[in-house]
Amino acid sequence: MLSVKEAQAKVLESEVKIKSIKVALLESCGKVIAEDVISNDFIPAFDNSAIDGFGVRAIDIIGADKNYPVKLKLIKEDIPAGKVSDMSVESGFAIPIMTGASIPSGCDCVVMKEDALKEGRDVLVFRECSQGENIRCRGEDIKQGDMVLKAGKKIYPADIGVLASIGVSEINVNKPPLAGIISTGDELVGIKDNLSEGRVRDSNSYCLAAQAAEAGANFKMYGIAKDDKNLIRDKIFSALEECDLLLISGGVSVGDYDFVKEILADAGAEFIFWRVNQRPGKPLAFLTFKDKFIFGLPGNPVSVMVCFEMYVRPLIKKMMGESNFFKRKITAKALQDYQHKEGTTDFIRVVLERVDNQCYFKPTGKQGSGILTSMAEADGLAVFPDDRNTIFKEDPVDVYLLRQ
Ligand code: AMP
Ligand code: MG
Repeated sequence: MLSVKEAQAKVLESEVKIKSIKVALLESCGKVIAEDVISNDFIPAFDNSAIDGFGVRAIDIIGADKNYPVKLKLIKEDIPAGKVSDMSVESGFAIPIMTGASIPSGCDCVVMKEDALKEGRDVLVFRECSQGENIRCRGEDIKQGDMVLKAGKKIYPADIGVLASIGVSEINVNKPPLAGIISTGDELVGIKDNLSEGRVRDSNSYCLAAQAAEAGANFKMYGIAKDDKNLIRDKIFSALEECDLLLISGGVSVGDYDFVKEILADAGAEFIFWRVNQRPGKPLAFLTFKDKFIFGLPGNPVSVMVCFEMYVRPLIKKMMGESNFFKRKITAKALQDYQHKEGTTDFIRVVLERVDNQCYFKPTGKQGSGILTSMAEADGLAVFPDDRNTIFKEDPVDVYLLRQ
């Protein structure tokens, strides 16, 4: 049986074909850019004032001070943002200018409004300015021909702003994969159905859809397939026609009605692995079928979620061209001793707390793989490694943060 590390390595060794798609600028946020973006413009496109104040010549106000203001003649015209003035600021003059307005010729600095006083036809300046002070120069942010974004970078809101500023309204991004989601089990009913003896609502489809969306993938839910080979096969084949990745939950264990592996084997899918030495989620299967990937996830809801975080999310991220495959990992200390089975990796749902400025973890109560609230309450997944049987109080342990 593979260890967690070996299984993760097999998933991440998968060859993925990254496709690109052109999307409207705002749709690109959170995706990975598929092309270098070069600016056709200078940003700012012209020298402009960084403040509201008076455009002057620096040489005219040398030595200006609170007690010894320099008196300049006020130019009647003013320059609000958007206006281009053909005035020239001659020596001894000051022109009112607003933030973002184009700097007129002759002017080489802008005095803050707060450092000057209009007095009839004059302006008193109470502070000297150096040449270029309070002027934002053409191209100081971006120059024409600069590469503003490099292919492979994830797009954040600030990048959207930069792209908007250089006039990019559509952009090629790596196409997020489409994940098909199928739940299998005779006991399953829809989430609007009432529960009765023997019935379980299909929470896995919804958890997986939410996790896929959180990871940035698109998803399509194919609903519930009863434990019937033909029904499961039909759903799998229609999903394989449309999707890049298939997430099937339930029916991959060793029960008499666990048909998923058999169906996939008959269909000619290639088993990359089945079973990982971990708790929860041991009977996980990972397969490929042509250029598609298939995860056979164990049915228990916590196993589904943990297997998603540890194996499915990294593959989705790889398919999107991202480099951070896993959720952020921190180190937290044990508040007490914990026994665990050597040879197996345990993923423990934990809450984190700060004690004396150190981060500690505490399990969220019952850890059964059917206790989905243990996952809902958890800040993270602590990894009890397979090479030891006791985690001692104060031992540092890796914790994947489920909530960022
Ligand atoms: P299985 O892997 O099919 O043996 O299922 C293991 C356990 O997970 C059983 O208790 C199932 O009832 C439960 N289970 C399977 N599929 C789902 C699902 N889609 N939603 C909630 N529980 C499920
Ligand atoms: Mg089942």
